[in-house]
Amino acid sequence: ANTLLAIRELDVTFTIGKKQYPALRQLSFQVKEKERVGIVGESGCGKSLTSLSVMGLLPESATITRGEINVAGKAWSPGMGEEWNATRGRHVAMIFQDPMSALNPLMPVGKQIAEMALTHLSVSKQEAKELALGMMAKVGLSRINQLYGEYPHRLSGGMMQRIMIAMALICKPKLLIADEPTTALDVTIQAQILDLLREMNRSTNTAMLFISHDLGVIREVCERVIVMYAGYMVEDAPVQEILEHPKHPYTAALLQALPSIEKRGQLLYTIPGRVPPLTERGDGCPFAGRCPRASTICHTKTPELETCGNGHRVRCHLYAEGKIFA
Ligand code: SF4
Ligand code: MG
Repeated sequence: ANTLLAIRELDVTFTIGKKQYPALRQLSFQVKEKERVGIVGESGCGKSLTSLSVMGLLPESATITRGEINVAGKAWSPGMGEEWNATRGRHVAMIFQDPMSALNPLMPVGKQIAEMALTHLSVSKQEAKELALGMMAKVGLSRINQLYGEYPHRLSGGMMQRIMIAMALICKPKLLIADEPTTALDVTIQAQILDLLREMNRSTNTAMLFISHDLGVIREVCERVIVMYAGYMVEDAPVQEILEHPKHPYTAALLQALPSIEKRGQLLYTIPGRVPPLTERGDGCPFAGRCPRASTICHTKTPELETCGNGHRVRCHLYAEGKIFA
């Protein structure tokens, strides 16, 4: 399949006062057409920052200081502004954790979906309404004619997330970025929304970049997983490969912290320590302070990204060239 999103050697830097703090470092990965890729990591690892970079929605204090973002063959460059928004808007849509904050509280939900079509497709008002109703049915909403005129506050969290998915997909984007789309929902509804996203990927061929702190959720949805830690991509591999042969000690810890049937009744493992905040990141491997396998070199030298077969990439001194892969 063709490459849809390509990020190469991306650095994003925050400026706080007069100081500069790197928040994303040498980030390189791709999403192919129709592919479902997950980004996992604890909060503060740069997952959302990655998606905001693609969307052109970085906060004022953050700048892309190096690297390349390419969407559907078109490269981003500094100062593109509106031109990038147009390209990105045509091909990429996004849904968030909190649909309520993304919806207009004063406009009926059906109309908000129709407005999306009116703005981006050359359709009449009547056609936009029909498209919206069609999308509402497709995302599994019922009593759609009545629901069309309801205001957001009348809907449950799960229904609102379905409305957001309808809004995101109505213009047929090539890529849907979903940032913790089920984190605010209870477990049953979460499973339904994950089913829906998988189903929409199959029926519309929209590729997905799925962001979550929960490897259990990513495992349900994605074909490939990118693990981020403190601004670095530390591992990238097909989902089965990650689950069966995690290489990076951070990935292994995330897996150990996953609840499972075998672990039922046991105290759930939590990774000791915390992600170093932006202002406290120095040289060496960013995971060194929490890593059970750290050695002296880990505290002074940042590991390079190594490619090690089976579509697997890892950033850890244990796998550096010349060492035997564990
Ligand atoms: Fe652990 Fe060292 Fe690998 Fe970092 S480089 S994950 S500290 S073993
Ligand atoms: Mg986030």
